[in-house]
Amino acid sequence: MSEPCRVTTTIDLDADGKQFGALSVPYSSNESAWGAVRIPIVVIKGGAGPTLLCTGGNHGDEYEGPIALGKLARSLEAADIAGRLILLPALNLPAVLAGTRVSPLDQINLNRTFPGRWDGTVTEMIADYVTRRILPLCGAVVDLHSGGKTLHFLPFCGMHVLDDAKQMARSRDAMLAFGAPFSVIIDEFDRLGMLDTAVEQLGKVFLFTELGGGGTATATTIAIAERGVRNLLHHFGMIEGAPEPAATRLMHSPDPSYFVVSEDRGIFEIMVDPGAEVSAGQPIARIHDVESPARTPATYRAERSGLLIGRRWPGPTRPGDCLAVIATEREPR
Ligand code: CA
Repeated sequence: MSEPCRVTTTIDLDADGKQFGALSVPYSSNESAWGAVRIPIVVIKGGAGPTLLCTGGNHGDEYEGPIALGKLARSLEAADIAGRLILLPALNLPAVLAGTRVSPLDQINLNRTFPGRWDGTVTEMIADYVTRRILPLCGAVVDLHSGGKTLHFLPFCGMHVLDDAKQMARSRDAMLAFGAPFSVIIDEFDRLGMLDTAVEQLGKVFLFTELGGGGTATATTIAIAERGVRNLLHHFGMIEGAPEPAATRLMHSPDPSYFVVSEDRGIFEIMVDPGAEVSAGQPIARIHDVESPARTPATYRAERSGLLIGRRWPGPTRPGDCLAVIATEREPR
């Protein structure tokens, strides 16, 4: 951990008060020989208390985070906060400006490149700075996602299955406090390179959201993001008052059998919409060969009974694409 950091910041992460600034990531291009990418950062620090990091725009085609965290940054003052709130509303700014999942500068998915590289590309340097300079300051992190252009979810706040029971209990309490309509515990297929993993390995609370998707944000999903982050600030005792009461259903998707994955190429048909209860063996999706209408489409069945919480969004589909996600009720404990 003794490598230099090539990213610099225009603010003092430890200073009291409210600061709007930027992480400056060196990037020499045809447009700017001695240039840099400037990732917006806001730090609001009041009296003694915990540090919460909220990130948006980890993927550039998901907008609840950038919008809700910008609103929060403008509305909260240091006098309102006990502790320190660090906001990175557009963590992968080049991707957010392009409206793409991965960065247009290096084609890297930020959320698959943690812990990053100090001597890497722009996206790798962002991950390195967050890993080495910001995460050590934080007690908890919430990363605001939605489904982007290729997925669509019922609005949920999520966490992962963790080995440490105490860390898992603290995370679950925070997830329920966020108060999204659904709270989902997921066992991710492949956690390598995720911000999630970088935070969880430090023993800290990590939450993510999947608030909608399809490449846009709605008034409803933006409101869920805003209310959820404020509820977390209440939960951690960082702002006055109690969380706004919100009904949430605790669910889980504990293994890969809850994810329906394509084995075909063609046009995707969802047969039940998110929010529907499905039973094991029920046909839930088809993939059509639209060039051969006489051919029977491939049918995909739910392997598990439960609630359809997510679906693929665009029509054109290839083998390996995630078509649907199912979750079942989990006992609150
Ligand atoms: Ca995402």
